[in-house]
Amino acid sequence: MKKKEYLIVGAGLFGIVLAEQLSKAGNKVIIIDKRPHIGGNCFDKYDKETNILYHVYGPHIFHIEDENILNYVKKFTNFNHYFHQVLTTYKDRIYQMPINLETINSFYGLNLKPFEVEAFLKKEIEKEQITTPKNMEEKVISLIGKQLYEAFFKDYTSKQWGKNPIDLPENIVSRIPIRNNYYESYYNKSFHGIPQISFSSMFEEMINNENIEIKLNCEYFENRKSFHQDSHVIYTGPIDRYFNYKFGKLEYRALEFKTEYKNVDDFQGTSVINYPESQYKYTRICEPKHFYRENWNEYVKNKTLIIKEIPLEDDGTNPFYPINNDKNNKIAEKYRKEGAKTNNVSFGGRLGEYKYFDMEDTIKSALTLFSEL
Ligand code: UDP
Repeated sequence: MKKKEYLIVGAGLFGIVLAEQLSKAGNKVIIIDKRPHIGGNCFDKYDKETNILYHVYGPHIFHIEDENILNYVKKFTNFNHYFHQVLTTYKDRIYQMPINLETINSFYGLNLKPFEVEAFLKKEIEKEQITTPKNMEEKVISLIGKQLYEAFFKDYTSKQWGKNPIDLPENIVSRIPIRNNYYESYYNKSFHGIPQISFSSMFEEMINNENIEIKLNCEYFENRKSFHQDSHVIYTGPIDRYFNYKFGKLEYRALEFKTEYKNVDDFQGTSVINYPESQYKYTRICEPKHFYRENWNEYVKNKTLIIKEIPLEDDGTNPFYPINNDKNNKIAEKYRKEGAKTNNVSFGGRLGEYKYFDMEDTIKSALTLFSEL
């Protein structure tokens, strides 16, 4: 690879993986971010009042299948022993999420055995007579029936995406398993974990190279003329913004994080509880001290931090999730084609590719772009 200068717009996971790879190969890298910190939405920090490390933009947990990706991440961090289990609540009772045998038995007041679940759910599913699911709602009903769908998915999804589930693609729930057993992991992938010290220290380790210069509080479009015009740009912001919305605006979902203190040692007994019912504006409550239980003795006593996640429409300042329905995907494809024609600029990450990536996909996509460059 010929050595040159790269300007990476966005110091999130995608940008940092590229910065790490490009700088190691001897290239000069400038990485800029409009926020005052690196790490993008994985950024974490210590809460001063409680000494609890928390993920500022919502919980991030690695779940990885590909061994190459896992080995890559392990070069920069060890992992603690956190096991990601999610609970959900319906009519003031707690259930396990993803739906497993415990959820089904508690919800219906039954004591089914694993080998009886399929026949039981089949009866529930058949009531709705869905042959080929055409949207998210039909997909979930075709897997678990209407009652479980309405309790745990319908309103959660409407809140999360701001759309009726019949207007959403079925693949937004494809990452959530349905289980006939009591296995409680939120993920099906072979590895999951969170960095032993912090995401921030992992990122510091990744960009610890003298070829990298970082500029924070730096908005690309306001400052683009101040950078070398012959640098190769790697842009990880919203792709429609880059092209001045010429094919129309893409929709993104944003999140508001409401932090609260509670004067108890343990508020909810676990890191994440989902609130699928429409009476709550939030979709989940996170209690971050449970991510690092090994630090329990270092936390301030009789106090805990909780964070409520409230989804909202993006006003253009803080896009989190691309909304990958047909309409948006068609527009995004036009931008991606335009991007492929643009000299000296590459697009990547959730916003740059307009894809609902998790962290494993993001790293994979960044490593692929590196090898193409
Ligand atoms: N979902 C739901 N109820 C839940 C959890 C998830 O309906 O209790 C649906 C919802 O549409 C969500 C999707 O499944 O957007 C994927 O959930 P996941 O937890 O993977 O989303 P994340 O917020 O981590 O991106």
